[in-house]
Amino acid sequence: MDVDGALRDHGLRRTPQRRAVLDALMGGRAMSAQEVHEAARVTTPELGLSTVYRTLITLSEAGVVDAIGQHDGEATYRLCSGGHHHHLICDTCRRVVELSECDLTAVQDAIAAEHGFSVTGHSLTFHGVCGDCARSGSGAG
Ligand SMILES: [Zn+2]
Ligand SMILES: [Zn+2]
Ligand SMILES: [Zn+2]
Repeated sequence: MDVDGALRDHGLRRTPQRRAVLDALMGGRAMSAQEVHEAARVTTPELGLSTVYRTLITLSEAGVVDAIGQHDGEATYRLCSGGHHHHLICDTCRRVVELSECDLTAVQDAIAAEHGFSVTGHSLTFHGVCGDCARSGSGAG
């Protein structure tokens, strides 16, 4: 994933703040604003936490990053590849797998018809424990 390309594709100007936030998200895990701030400060010490919050909201509204669930009461975000997909997340290490296959069109149509809604989209996240975390066992934290 190319950070500059991702910004350009979504019509966003490249700023040092956006660049630092996206760089911090490169690892592919779901991260809260506080975690992004911790990681981004290594290369961009002047980056404030409130700027990280604002930047993440801007990036998620523009569709550059996906908001995926919560960790310790904080919304978490991930830099995804784009296109419609669902998420499979490990609640232990917060590794995320993108599931590009979507079989929900029929379900969506049925729900829309039943409730008289014009459904414009859906999101779906599966939660669980990944193979590595399952193998490392309980108690390791
Ligand atoms: Zn995603
Ligand atoms: Zn895991
Ligand atoms: Zn879908």
